[in-house]
Amino acid sequence: MSRFFNPRLTSLEAYTPGEQPRDRTYIKLNTNESPYPPSRGVRRAMDRQALDDLRLYCDPNATVLKEKLAKLYDKEPSQIFVANGSDDILNFAFLAFGAEGVLFPDISYGFYEVFANLHSLPYEKIPLQQDFSIDVKPYCGQKRMVVIANPNAPTGIALPLRKIQQILEANPDNVVLIDEAYVDFGGESCAKLTEKYPNLLCVQTFSKSRSMAGARLGFAIGSPELIADLETIKYSTNPYNVNALTQKAGAAAVEDNGYYMRNCRKIIKSRLYTKKELEKLGFTVLPSKANFLFAKSDKIGGMELYLRLKEKGILVRHFEKNRICDYNRITIGSQKEMEAFIAAVEEILGA
Ligand code: PMP
Repeated sequence: MSRFFNPRLTSLEAYTPGEQPRDRTYIKLNTNESPYPPSRGVRRAMDRQALDDLRLYCDPNATVLKEKLAKLYDKEPSQIFVANGSDDILNFAFLAFGAEGVLFPDISYGFYEVFANLHSLPYEKIPLQQDFSIDVKPYCGQKRMVVIANPNAPTGIALPLRKIQQILEANPDNVVLIDEAYVDFGGESCAKLTEKYPNLLCVQTFSKSRSMAGARLGFAIGSPELIADLETIKYSTNPYNVNALTQKAGAAAVEDNGYYMRNCRKIIKSRLYTKKELEKLGFTVLPSKANFLFAKSDKIGGMELYLRLKEKGILVRHFEKNRICDYNRITIGSQKEMEAFIAAVEEILGA
């Protein structure tokens, strides 16, 4: 008898999340989390009342959180959608808008292909250029949904806003989803373009720049029509998809935006330090606007470096995939962690 009760699932390849090991304490530079804790306001919000309120269902409309996000981004609450991590939003968006087909880069966030397959959507992967940048031409004049991570992952390379506008101008009738998971680390957000382009969906997350990966909170900004479609899917699957504690923590985090943006600046500084040090050691490092670097050395293979670092208690992310298997993706941690990382790489290379 088959191990699977649904034969269709045997052929589906699920997403493999980055390691979250419990065997020892690592310097964790593998899943792009923030090295900094949630703000004081978030700590204060997790009070006795918040625990007592767990007795009740949470607000399915996440009213307070949406109002705060709307104010921060100069929008109306009807232009904001919130969900259980931005993965949840991507899933809903593929389901809602991908029936005619989906286009995304061949090297990008691995979940795009998983969602396309899960929902049996036709899709095409557009190759990145030789230097790993995105050529926008193949995305123009298409009658399909476009999904682009900006900055892209795992490369960290950002696309200027005028290039995204070029895609939007050339695709007025289908949804263009810009996944801005890493935008706060030096990218340019397309949030301000959503009034001009009702087909633009700008997706962000509290997991990276806002130190809340474990709370699972993502949000999207778009025209009220796009947001209403996402709400229909949400109310048809799980109306309470953002739990009460996360709604409270998220609202408090928005209030402390200054703290998080200061952390982003610290991370950008440590990114510059790490890039410079890796280049001194002979690494090729792609130009990143994210909280990670994508780097390779011709002195050591990508897999070997990953394994040797792991032995030393440092986790980075390696993808055993065509075109990128020589590289590792290194999350930018605290300055101290990055100094320990560079020291470990020097030791491994015998520098
Ligand atoms: N988009 C990109 C490009 C990512 O790298 C990630 C993180 N794995 C996500 C979305 C999802 O993040 P989350 O579900 O934690 O919001």
